[in-house]
Parts: sequence; C-alpha cells; structure tokens
Amino acid sequence: MVDADQTFVIVGGGLAGAKAAETLRAEGFTGRVILICDERDHPYERPPLSKGYVLGKEERDTVFVHEPAWYARNDIELHLGQTVDAIDRTAKTVRFGEDGTVVHYDKLLLATGAEPRRLDIPGTDLAGVHHLRRLAHAERLKGVLTSLGRDNGHLVIAGAGWIGLEIAAAAREYGAEVTVVEHGQTPLHGVLGPELGALFAELHREHGVRFHFGRRLTEIVGQDGMVLAVRTDDGEEHPAHDVLAAIGAAPRTALAEAAGLEIADAAHGRGVVVDERLRTSDPDIYAAGDVASFPHALFDTRLRVEHWANALNGGPAAARAMLGQDVTYDRVPYFFSDQYDLGMEYSGWAPAGSYDQVVIRGDAGKREFIAFWVKEGRVLAGMNVNVWDVTEPIQKLIRSRAQVNTENLANPHIPLEDLIP
Ligand SMILES: Cc1cc2nc3c(=O)[nH]c(=O)nc-3n(C[C@H](O)[C@H](O)[C@H](O)COP(=O)(O)OP(=O)(O)OC[C@H]3O[C@@H](n4cnc5c(N)ncnc54)[C@H](O)[C@@H]3O)c2cc1C
Repeated sequence: MVDADQTFVIVGGGLAGAKAAETLRAEGFTGRVILICDERDHPYERPPLSKGYVLGKEERDTVFVHEPAWYARNDIELHLGQTVDAIDRTAKTVRFGEDGTVVHYDKLLLATGAEPRRLDIPGTDLAGVHHLRRLAHAERLKGVLTSLGRDNGHLVIAGAGWIGLEIAAAAREYGAEVTVVEHGQTPLHGVLGPELGALFAELHREHGVRFHFGRRLTEIVGQDGMVLAVRTDDGEEHPAHDVLAAIGAAPRTALAEAAGLEIADAAHGRGVVVDERLRTSDPDIYAAGDVASFPHALFDTRLRVEHWANALNGGPAAARAMLGQDVTYDRVPYFFSDQYDLGMEYSGWAPAGSYDQVVIRGDAGKREFIAFWVKEGRVLAGMNVNVWDVTEPIQKLIRSRAQVNTENLANPHIPLEDLIP
C-alpha cells in the first residue's frame, strides 16, 4: 500500500501526540493523519501551567505546541473535545465522540498521557479542592492564588512533588499562606532521595512555606460547600481556604486495557507496555509520552517517564517507527523545574535505593551546584542547580557508564568533559 492510502490515528493531543503528527508530515507521510483529543484546547505544553502561566508571567497563547492554523495547513484532521472510547483491534478502528464516529487506522498511536490522582478522603467534593493538569485548571488556580494572596488566605497542598512545590512557590509569590502535607520525610523523596529533598525543604521554608512531613490528609473540613480546614492523620487541624491535591498522576491506560494491550505492573509504572520502538503488544499500535512504559537498556529496566522531554522526543520517535524507520528510543530521561530563583535540570534515573553516594560539585549552600547520584563509581543521574549548559556532559557521563573518580567529580575545577572516557 502506498503512503497516500494509509490512515494514521493519534489518540491524545498533548505534546507527544502533536509532535508525532508534526513528525509524520516532516518525514513526508502523505496519508491521512487524524488527531483526536478530549480537550477543547489545541495541543499545549503543560510546564507553564505551574510556573509562568499560573504566575501571570506567560500569556495563554504562548503555551500551544502549534498555532491553530498549523493543523489545517499540514492536513492534520483535528477532532477536539472528543473522547476515543473504544479500539477494535480486529477491524482496526477507533470509535470517538458522542455520535460514536468510527474511523479505520493502519497505524495507531496512543498518547493519552496521565491524569491527577484523587484524594480518597471526605470533603474532596468541596468547591475549594483543586487539581492541576489542564489549562482550565491553571486558569482557575490563577484566580484562586490571586484572591488568596489579596486576602491573606491559606492554601494547603497535599504532596511535595514537583507540581506541589512549584505551586507552593507560585502561591508564596502571590502572598498566600502555604502549608504542604507530605507523607514522605522530605519533598521529592522518591526522585531525589533524602539528601537533595532536604535542600528543597529548606528553600521553601526560607520563603515561608510550612511543611508537615510524615503526615497524610484525612479530611477536608467544609461549611456551606466551602473549605474551612484540613485534618491530618495526627488529629491536627490546619486552616485552609483552598486545597490542591498534588499527589501524583496515573497513566491513562483504560482504553489500552479495554483493547487487551499489555499493561506494565506497578513496579514499572503501570503504563502501556511498549518495546524499544515504542510498539505495544499489537504491532500496529504504538504508545508514547506519559502513558508508555518502555525498556531502557542503560538502566536495565522498564521506565515510565512523566516529563516534558519524554513527550517531546517520544512522540516523534513513535511517528518514525510507525513509518517503518529503524528506531531505538533510549533517551536519557530529563526534566526541569523552576521554584523562586532556583532553576534546575535533572538527567538520568536514580530512585531511592539505587545509588550508594551523592556527590556534590559546587556550593550547595549557595544553591549553585551539580549533584550526582553514583553507584559503585558510576554516575546514574545528575542535577544541575542554577548552573547551566552542562546537560550534555552530564548525559554523556551517564551514558558512558564509566567508573569515575568521585573526588574529581566533586571538583568544579576539573571540566566534566575530562571525566568522560
Ligand atoms: C502542571 C504541570 C507542570 C509540569 N511541569 C513540568 C516541568 O516543569 N518539566 C517537565 O519535564 N515536565 C513537566 N510536566 C510533565 C509534562 O507536562 C508531561 O510529561 C507531558 O505533558 C506529557 O505529555 P503527553 O502528550 O504524554 O500527555 P498529556 O500532556 O497528558 O496529553 C494527553 C492528552 O490526551 C488526552 N486524552 C487522554 N485519553 C483520551 C481519549 N481516550 N480520547 C481522547 N483524548 C484523550 C488528554 O486529555 C490529554 O489532552 C508538567 C505537567 C503538569 C501537569
């Protein structure tokens, strides 16, 4: 069959889906490209939602992946505000929208992303309980933070992960009172471990954030539909006018599961299982972005990565694989965050328990340093904090799997490049 007779369908119009559509056209695919998304907004990038956009420093129209006219210009058939609710793998069709429209696919990409986990406690239906995933959530939160700042109101954040901390920083910039309740002993415990987590706790405390570590919310107390306070599992009550549930995200696998595709177990992120070409257990169906669980030879495990760069690169990689190109998706995981005047980038993968040493290069006290997570002399991950243009050598070091002298690694006078074999 020639290209022009083929139909490629993409489910999910986030960064991975939009970038996959772009790559199909950039690689010269002349068949139909159908992109279906349940959101009404054109595909957009989510990082500004907890940073520049919620702070009112970035305009709404800067978050979109492409300008609206780009889709028609590139002959991408865009169906917004439409949910795909079934895949028929035998007939090779997907069904979407309220009228149950059915379209045939030759290749299908699942780029359905993730959705915020919900608190399972009394009071979550109160008007002042928020989540943050979508542009509409960020718009609402921006209004909430503005009024909390103006009225000296209290925001309670459940979860000291990236989104919880970024919103804590934004809320403090607006002048709101902020309390963070986190069941771990430090922020970002699972990603950074206790050593670097403590640094983030210190940063936020300096800016007036209150933390309750080792605690969980047990109830959101309300009156007349409004939030009044929260209760924690030590029986304490904390004042609150609004609550943000930032307790992580779950991959949107329901569609894949219902279609009988293989899903990873909890230890591997519960995403849709794909191979190194991002192909699922069905050879005509691919998955990329937050929803995919892919094998990573470098770390000798299956990873599900919920970060911008993985959607940015994974969508295009899947598109090339769908076109029959030889693809091995083995990017070093990368993400970034901005909180107050701290900017950081993290490359690699070193969950708690996987490393035996954290090596600091630079001045952690001044928050200008690179941290390396090291196991038996090999660098698993590196995080540069307020130090820039070092991602490439950090990723090369990780990729090299070389044994490094940790004294040299800690010495900022020895260029990182000199440590790469
Ligand atoms: C507030 C926030 C801040 C972030 N900040 C950072 C950051 O600073 N750095 C970083 O590296 N990463 C950050 N991330 C993570 C990053 O945004 C995600 O990794 C990225 O959005 C994943 O892209 P995706 O295309 O895989 O999924 P998504 O962006 O989730 O897009 C999936 C789309 O598919 C739609 N969809 C799902 N199911 C269906 C269906 N059945 N039918 C139709 N449509 C469907 C969804 O509604 C959604 O629109 C942040 C995320 C959030 C929420």
